[in-house]
Amino acid sequence: MSVIMNGKEVAQKVRDELKKEVSNLKDQGKILKFAVIMVGDNSASKIYIKNKSKACEEVGIDCEEYILDANIQMQELLDLIKKLNNRNDIHGILLQSPIPKHLDIDEAFRTIAPEKDVDGFNPVNVGKLCLGQDGFIACTPLGVMKLLEEYNIDIEGKNAVVIGRSNIVGKPMLQCLLNKNATVTICHSKTSNLLEVTKNADIIVAAVGKEKFLKADMIKDGAVIIDVGINRLENGTICGDVDFENVKEKASYITPVPGGVGPMTVAMLMSNIVKASK
Ligand code: NDP
Repeated sequence: MSVIMNGKEVAQKVRDELKKEVSNLKDQGKILKFAVIMVGDNSASKIYIKNKSKACEEVGIDCEEYILDANIQMQELLDLIKKLNNRNDIHGILLQSPIPKHLDIDEAFRTIAPEKDVDGFNPVNVGKLCLGQDGFIACTPLGVMKLLEEYNIDIEGKNAVVIGRSNIVGKPMLQCLLNKNATVTICHSKTSNLLEVTKNADIIVAAVGKEKFLKADMIKDGAVIIDVGINRLENGTICGDVDFENVKEKASYITPVPGGVGPMTVAMLMSNIVKASK
């Protein structure tokens, strides 16, 4: 039987601490402001943006939302980002992905000023993470690291396995664990010996995007299991990448979905905005 890691509770604690910090900054005359850009009409993105602006409100950060038409040209998006880069009252900028295919998301991320890049997707911040330098780290891996820290889970010298190699989760996750001295293996759809790798893992982060992908017989007894997956089921509920009910009987620690990594992602965004204001 494992410890269920309560991301909701840890995220609340993070937000409470940030709220105090934001209030102190306000007393010194500094108002924190965050800009979020969405292009097109994506229902999942709308929910994410709503959660982010709700968290901003709770912490005391002003939030400006820019909802752009799906047919806009790249230049219009770049002009908006540049305008926000140049505004002294805006501390953080986030471009909600996905954006329509005719737009170049890499160029958009490159255009967000690194010091306002609270999502950590600008190559400057990605590079800093790789070099072990201080910068902005993508919110989901950062949230996972915070959760591991809150539960006093040893990382140094452990075999950590990340399943999934996306730029937003898998790759920065690999780097975060490596920077904490884990021996990290990253797996993807072309990995031929997945079972062999996961069976040997002390810590597994599943970021695959496939419901109940990680089964109990794929892990060793006592492994720490972090489930990043958010899979929407036909009945409207969400489910993670881990077969939670069975895996929890074998793991030492496990995150649930919902209530695990998801709330941490939003809390770490708030944390990055406060950091950007400094
Ligand atoms: P992507 O689809 O970009 O990446 C999925 C990764 O899984 C790819 O690297 C892919 O490999 C790998 N993969 C697919 N099938 C297999 C397989 N059979 N064996 C091993 N690896 C496989 O997803 P994201 O990284 O964007 O997201 C992953 C999940 O996390 C999703 O459910 C998403 O909704 C969720 N998410 C949750 C967040 C949160 O706040 N909790 C934040 C962001 C995402 P390959 O590269 O070879 O294709």
